[in-house]
Amino acid sequence: MAQPFHTISAKDLEFFASLLGKDAVLAGGASIQSYARDYTEDLSFPPDCVLIPGTAEEVAAVLAYCHEHNIAVTPRGAGTGLSGGSLPVFGGVSLSLQRMNRILHIDTKNFQARVQPGVINEVLREEAAMHGLFYPPDPASRGSCFLGGNIAHSSGGPRAVKYGTTKDYVLNLQVALPDGSLIWTGANTVKNSTGYNLTQLMVGSEGTLGVVTEMVLRLISKPVYTILLLAPFANPVQACKAVNEVLLAGFQPSALELMEESGVRMSVAATQTPFPEHPDTEIWLLAELDGNHPEALLDEAGRLFPLLEASGASEVLLADNETLKEQWWKVRRSIGEVVKSVSIYKEEDTVVPRYALPELMAAVKEISTRYGFRAVCYGHAGDGNLHVNILKDQLSDRQWKEEIPKAIREIFEQCKALGGTISGEHGIGLVQKDYLDVVFGETHFALMRGIKQVFDPKGILNPGKWV
Ligand SMILES: Cc1cc2nc3c(=O)[nH]c(=O)nc-3n(C[C@H](O)[C@H](O)[C@H](O)COP(=O)(O)OP(=O)(O)OC[C@H]3O[C@@H](n4cnc5c(N)ncnc54)[C@H](O)[C@@H]3O)c2cc1C
Repeated sequence: MAQPFHTISAKDLEFFASLLGKDAVLAGGASIQSYARDYTEDLSFPPDCVLIPGTAEEVAAVLAYCHEHNIAVTPRGAGTGLSGGSLPVFGGVSLSLQRMNRILHIDTKNFQARVQPGVINEVLREEAAMHGLFYPPDPASRGSCFLGGNIAHSSGGPRAVKYGTTKDYVLNLQVALPDGSLIWTGANTVKNSTGYNLTQLMVGSEGTLGVVTEMVLRLISKPVYTILLLAPFANPVQACKAVNEVLLAGFQPSALELMEESGVRMSVAATQTPFPEHPDTEIWLLAELDGNHPEALLDEAGRLFPLLEASGASEVLLADNETLKEQWWKVRRSIGEVVKSVSIYKEEDTVVPRYALPELMAAVKEISTRYGFRAVCYGHAGDGNLHVNILKDQLSDRQWKEEIPKAIREIFEQCKALGGTISGEHGIGLVQKDYLDVVFGETHFALMRGIKQVFDPKGILNPGKWV
C-alpha cells in the first residue's frame, strides 16, 4: 500500500514523550512487536511507535498533534480482535488504551457503570456482580478483551440470545475526535430522543471515527441461578433446527451454543478438560437457562429434555455441579483460540436470521467439500451467528490466497441471500473489507464515506480499514 502519511521522526517522539512521559512512548525493537499483531490469522504490521496515554485529555492531545502533522493513528484495546481492526497497516501510532483501565463508579441507584476503555470485560462483570448487578455482554475473550474494543465492535457472546449485545448496554460515550476535540455523545439516560444518535454511531465504528475515552454502561440485576444442558447430535443441520424448536416453544435460554465435534475434541485435547463422549456425534448444543427461582428453572429444564430429544438429540446431559458447568463452558470458550494453534486459519463471522441457520450450515458444508478445506463451525446459534473457521492445513499458498477467498465470497453470498450479513460481532476491519460489496451497494459506500469525511476529513484515524 502507498504511504500517504508522515513517518514519525525523532522530533515527534520527543513531543510525545514530553506530553505523556517517556515510559508511555515505545519505539523500535521488541517493545513494539506485540502491537503489530492481534488474533487475526498470522498478520503483522508494526507501528512506528506505541503511545500509552493515561487520560482522555492526553488521548485528545495526541490526536490533535497527529491531525496537524498527518500521522496515522490506530486505536488499540487488548488486541484480541479477529478482523485485524487494531493493526496499524500504515505504521504511524498504535494508540494503546491499556493504562486507562479504571472502573470509575458503579451507580447502584441508576444501575450504571462509568468506566475507562481499558477495563477488561470480565473485571467489570465481577465488580458489578459484587453489587448484585449484571453486565451481560460476555465475549468468549472476556478475560482479556477491553470494553473499548467491545464497543468498537459491538461485541456479543453466548448471552446475546437473551440479553443482546454491547450496543444494548451503552448509554453515553466520551470520545476524542480525530482533530483533538473531546465530546460526550449522549446522556446518562435510558431514553434519549435528542438529535442523531451519535452514541450508537460510535458503537461498531471500529475506531475509524473517534477514540472512546470513557463510557457509561447500563447494568441490570443479576440472575442468581443457572442450569446447563448439553446435547449431542449426529446431524448438524438437525441441531440447527433444534435451536429454532427451542425458541419457538417459548423457552428463553440465556445461551444456545453450537460446537462441532472436531472443534470440541481440539479444545478438550489442548485444555485437558474432561468432556463427555458420544458415538456418531457431529455437533453439540450447549443450552443455559437462568433465573432467580431454582424450582422454576428445574421445571423448565425438565420440559426442555424431551423437546431436545424429539428434535434429534441422541441424549441430553445436565451439569449437576459447578465444576461440570465450568468444564463445559471452558471447552466452548477455548475452541476459537485452540483452532488457531492447530493451523493458520481464517475465521468467518457469518450471521443470518435464526430460522435460516440450518440452510446456512448446509451451504457451508457443501462449499467446504467442493473447495476441499476443513471448516470447524461453532457459535451463537441462538442468534443465527455461526463462526466458520477455515483451516489452512495442507492447502498450498496459492489455494489459500486465490481459492479460499472465492469460497468465502460464496459463503457470504449465501448469508446475504438468506437475509443475513458478513459479520455478526467481529467487525469488518482489514480482512473482511474486500467482501463488503456482497452486502453494500454504491449508495451505502457513499454514505459511509460521507460520515467518515465529517468526523475525520484527513483520514488519519485507523486508515486502511473498511472505510
Ligand atoms: C479466543 C477469542 C474469543 C472471542 N470471542 C468473541 C465472542 O464470543 N464474541 C465477540 O463479539 N468477539 C469475540 N472475540 C473477538 C474480540 O475479542 C472482540 O472483538 C473484542 O471486542 C475486541 O476487543 P479488544 O480490546 O481486544 O480490541 P482490539 O482487538 O484491540 O481492537 C478492536 C477494534 O477496536 C478499536 N478500538 C479499540 N479500543 C478502542 C477505543 N477505546 N476507541 C475506539 N476504537 C477502539 C480498534 O481500533 C479495532 O478496530 C474473540 C476473540 C478471541 C481471540
